[in-house]
Amino acid sequence: MIFDKTFCPGSKSFREPMPEDYTCQQCGYEVEIWTHELRGTCPKCGASVFKERTPSCIDWCQHAKECVGEETFDRLMEGKE
Ligand SMILES: [Zn+2]
Repeated sequence: MIFDKTFCPGSKSFREPMPEDYTCQQCGYEVEIWTHELRGTCPKCGASVFKERTPSCIDWCQHAKECVGEETFDRLMEGKE
């Protein structure tokens, strides 16, 4: 296995972010949160909308930091308990 130039599929959402819709718990408004972000702000009521954090390869892959980039990695780890 060569890790240097290959990326695991699990990190795709962090390297190529896509917007996903989440429902604001305050007002029910559909809030877009990108796949590489952990939270967003509701444009309607200003509440913070948190994603349910799902375990990903970032949690266990020792190459995660270089895979998704240090900035993204640090932000993802920030939301971890
Ligand atoms: Zn709202």
